[in-house]
Amino acid sequence: MIETYDITLFWIDSWLDGLPIETLAPNLFKAVPPRFHSRTVRDGLLNGTWISDIKGPLSEGMVVEYVEVWEKVRQVALTAGVEDKFRWRWSSDGNYSLSSAYHACFIGSVPFLGAKFIWKASVPPKVKFFAWLAAQDRCWTAVRRHRHGLQDDNVCALCDQEAESINHLLLHCSFSKHVWFLALQKLAWHSLLPDPGVSLMEWWCSVRGKVVVEQRSGFDAVILLVVWTLWKERNARVFDGKCSSPHDVLSKLLSEARLWDLAGFQAFSRLVSWLPSPTVELGLGLAVGSQSFDVN
Ligand SMILES: [Zn+2]
Repeated sequence: MIETYDITLFWIDSWLDGLPIETLAPNLFKAVPPRFHSRTVRDGLLNGTWISDIKGPLSEGMVVEYVEVWEKVRQVALTAGVEDKFRWRWSSDGNYSLSSAYHACFIGSVPFLGAKFIWKASVPPKVKFFAWLAAQDRCWTAVRRHRHGLQDDNVCALCDQEAESINHLLLHCSFSKHVWFLALQKLAWHSLLPDPGVSLMEWWCSVRGKVVVEQRSGFDAVILLVVWTLWKERNARVFDGKCSSPHDVLSKLLSEARLWDLAGFQAFSRLVSWLPSPTVELGLGLAVGSQSFDVN
């Protein structure tokens, strides 16, 4: 947006209704050779010079856009002797600020249920990215691959019975439910197991409020740890032909937690202190932080 017209470029800058002509009339803009793109607004308006910049035959769409631009341009009146002033459109006073630029990045964004729980969780970025894809049903499950003609069936790799949608795979599969129970039972959260048919984010957001505040970050991390481990188990079966039992998956899950803890993701260090009755012996030889889980 500008106030006067000495240096502003007619075809390129956002001076007409706050938009560049390239955006207002994209087809008409294609008929303007690049050598005319440096024409200023003042020069363009002088005796209608901008019209002579348009070259070649005009299609019906170009003519429509030309008339629209012409109608807008003819309403513009220049202010002589005043320099151009560029205004920052994303703030009320027209001045640039870092905060207004930051908030402008979110204009047009779509609300995402539970997004902040994913991005704020104390887990590796690859796990957050996987959860983000899973929450939007963008993972290449058997159902999705079958829908795109990439495989003949859509059967779940974990139970070999039902259709492998992302919510079935991560929540409702009989195999996954067993893993969830084993994992949540260790932290006395087994009463929070998902109800039938609920999606991952619906369940996560609904039960998170039932967890005491100081344990919620740990709860978020456990959810992401379990879904990540289930996805890896699914991939091990699909790509490597290797199957593990629910107890074996729990062992892998705890090993992964130990690695994440060593890597500095603190939620897992705190988790072990919440265990109702931490064991002294090492169960299957797995330990998290200074304590251990009995995985038997
Ligand atoms: Zn299944």
